[in-house]
Amino acid sequence: MGKNIVVMKFGGTSVGSIEKINKVAERAIKSKNEGNDVVITVSAMGDTTDDLIELASRISSNPPKREMDMLLSTGEQVSSALLAIAIAQKGGKAISLTGYQVGIFTDDIFSDAKILTIKKDRIFAEFEKDNIVIVAGFQGITNNNDITTLGRGGSDTTAVAIAAALNATHCEIFTDVDGVFTADPNIVSNARKINVLSYDEMLELASSGAKVLHLRAVEFAKNHGVIIHVRSSFNNNEGTWVMDTEKLNEKMEQAVVSGVTYDTNQVKISVFGIPDKPGVAAKLFGELAAANINIDMIVQNVGEKGIAAISFTIKKEDLQTCEKVVKELKEKIGIKNFEIDTDIAKLSIVGAGMKSHPGVAATMFSCLGDKGINIEMISTSPIIISCVIRKDRIIEAVRLLHEVFNLDKN
Ligand code: ADP
Ligand code: ASP
Ligand code: MG
Repeated sequence: MGKNIVVMKFGGTSVGSIEKINKVAERAIKSKNEGNDVVITVSAMGDTTDDLIELASRISSNPPKREMDMLLSTGEQVSSALLAIAIAQKGGKAISLTGYQVGIFTDDIFSDAKILTIKKDRIFAEFEKDNIVIVAGFQGITNNNDITTLGRGGSDTTAVAIAAALNATHCEIFTDVDGVFTADPNIVSNARKINVLSYDEMLELASSGAKVLHLRAVEFAKNHGVIIHVRSSFNNNEGTWVMDTEKLNEKMEQAVVSGVTYDTNQVKISVFGIPDKPGVAAKLFGELAAANINIDMIVQNVGEKGIAAISFTIKKEDLQTCEKVVKELKEKIGIKNFEIDTDIAKLSIVGAGMKSHPGVAATMFSCLGDKGINIEMISTSPIIISCVIRKDRIIEAVRLLHEVFNLDKN
C-alpha cells in the first residue's frame, strides 16, 4: 500500500488495432515499473460500438434498451481482454475485469445509466497481487445484476469515477488529439490547444458538443476534486489540464471566449395550439422528464387568444420516446399538432470571461446575421451562449466564430 495510484483511459482510436493495443500495453508496463499501482480503462476498439448498433438496427428500429446494453458492453470486454493478453505477452502482470467483476453499480436507466457506487476491494486485491488492473469502460451493473451502459463516450466517466473512488490525484484521458482545443481540431484547422480549463468551462464545452470528454466524467471530477489530464495517446506531449483553477498559484487570465462547439445530435420539437394557461408547460415537461428525456433549449411564443406554441430540443436518441409522450399528451392537455425538425444543429461559444464582458452575444449574432445564417433559438448563461441554426450551415458557422473571436491566437 501507499503506492501512487495512476488511472489511465484509452479511447476507441487508441485501442483501434493490435499494434495500438501493444503500444498501450507498453505504456501500462512502464508506469507500473515506475512503482505505481496502475488502473487502465479502455473503450471498445475503433468503431465497434457503432457497428454493434448497426447490427441491432438491421433487426429492429426500436430494440429493447436492456438488450442493447447487453450487446454494446461486449465491445469493451474484447479490448480489455486483448490488452491483458498484450501485457502478459510482454512479460507484465495484468488482469481484465468487467464492470460487474469490479462492482460498478449504476441506476437502471439503460443506455444512459449513472454510476452510484464503485467497490474498491477487488481492485485493491489485484494491486496486492501486483497486477495492472484493466477495467472495461462504459459499463456497469444494476442491483438486479443487469448490465447497463453509461451513454456514448461513457468510458471517460468510468475512468474518472474509478480515480475518485481510489482517491487518485488525477486521471489521464488518452485520446486521438493533443488535448481540448478552442474548437474541434478536425473541423477547424487552426484550432489551438488549451493548456488549463476550469471544471465549469469544461462542463459547458462537454455539454454543448465537444465530445473529447464525456459530460458525466467532468461532473464526477468536479464533485470529487479529480484533476483530468486530456492528452494524446500517440505522443508524450503535455495535454489539457481540467481542474479547479481557483487553486492555481498564478491566477489565470480568463479568456473571454475559450471555445466554439457544435452539436448535430439534436432534434427540435414544436408543439402548437396548446392552452396558454398555468400548469401546461409543467405537465408537458413533467411527463417528458418522467420518461427520462433531457430537454435542452426551450422557446415559448407569446400566446394569442389563449393559445400558445412551445419549441424545445432533445437528443436524437430520445426522439421515439418523446413522440410517444407528446402523442399521449395530445388529448390530456389539448395539443393541436406537433412538428419534428431533424435538420437543426446547436452552435455555442463558451468562456468564463464572458461574465464580465458585455457585447459577446451581440458580436456572435451579428456575424451570423451578416452571413445570412438564421438564428432559430437562443439560450444563455453566464459562461455560454447557444443558438440553434440550420444543420447545413453549422461547420461554416463554427469556423466563422473561431475566426471572429480570434481563437487561434493566445
Ligand atoms: P476517444 O475515442 O478517445 O474517447 P472521442 O472521439 O470520444 O475520442 O473524442 C476525441 C474527438 O473529439 C477528437 O477526435 C475531436 O474530433 C473531437 N472534438 C470535438 N471538439 C473538440 C475539442 N474542442 N477539442 C478536442 N477534440 C474535440
Ligand atoms: N464505446 C463507447 C462508445 O463508443 C464508449 C466510449 O468509447 O467511451 O460510445
Ligand atoms: Mg470519447
